[in-house]
Amino acid sequence: RAKADGRGTFRFFKPEMDERMQARRGLEIDLRKALALKEFELVYQPQTRIEGDTVVGFEALLRWRHPDRGLVSPADFIPLAEEIGLITPIGEWVLRTACREAALWPDSITIAVNLSAVQFRGSRLLDTVTSALAGSGLAAARLELEITEGALLEDTDAVLAVLNGLRELGVRVSMDDFGTGYSSLSYLQKFPFDKIKIDQSFVRSMASDRDSAAIIRAVTSLGSSFGMTTIAEGVETPEQLARIRAEGCTEAQGYLISRPLTPEAARAFIAARVA
Ligand code: C2E
Ligand code: MG
Ligand code: MG
Ligand code: MG
Repeated sequence: RAKADGRGTFRFFKPEMDERMQARRGLEIDLRKALALKEFELVYQPQTRIEGDTVVGFEALLRWRHPDRGLVSPADFIPLAEEIGLITPIGEWVLRTACREAALWPDSITIAVNLSAVQFRGSRLLDTVTSALAGSGLAAARLELEITEGALLEDTDAVLAVLNGLRELGVRVSMDDFGTGYSSLSYLQKFPFDKIKIDQSFVRSMASDRDSAAIIRAVTSLGSSFGMTTIAEGVETPEQLARIRAEGCTEAQGYLISRPLTPEAARAFIAARVA
């Protein structure tokens, strides 16, 4: 009987596993073709200085428009792209496209681009950034690269060398999703980031959780004493904006200000908001 159950369980699970592996395999096959088929797009989400409500920059966010699946979220394909080595060419496309778009904007507006931990392996990143800047004519100081703690965990010395190389090129470096990892604070000491992006989970829980508000206050005060800008992510309500401002945050990003915009809509947003 036990044996029959065991076999039953096995037979029940196996097709499901196959299905999942086939779905992944299907996604992988499609992902390998996506660049050539021009299925990627970038959307741009505004970032404002809270004081004066001034537009200071945009973050480029990657979208995959799949012919049958529709819009695929980066959360669903970036881990796979990292695993199969595709994040490097995709990341290069993102950098080149974002720099070219930002070169059309006023000089006061920056562009932030997300980098994967995988892009920090080897020395190719510095060449990629150099050529994206040269190809677009964008001033290095207008490019901001966002990295998460995950990238720093890898091999600290090699990663620090790349970060310092980026700094020498004149680009800015931001720490993304700050506070979600285990040793965010120690990384601030190892590398002088230009900006700290406080993760949206803190912004969301701030109203109900006093610890979150205290963490935001501590981070903004630490940031200002290190000469770093602090930006809160995922600001959705006027109350959240008022709270982060009261805790000392200088910039904000989130649906309250704007959803991520197509390139055309971002240009219209700039035309309406930037003198
Ligand atoms: P992230 O860099 O932390 O980006 C912020 C995410 O929060 C974006 O999700 C954005 O659309 C979303 N968001 C912005 N404002 C709000 C808000 O008010 N409320 C809520 N609930 N969400 C908000 P998205 O575009 O789905 O991107 C998810 C993540 O995928 C990004 O997190 C980033 O880690 C990664 N990613 C996106 N584009 C790229 C890329 O070009 N390269 C790499 N390596 N990663 C990317
Ligand atoms: Mg980001
Ligand atoms: Mg983030
Ligand atoms: Mg994130």
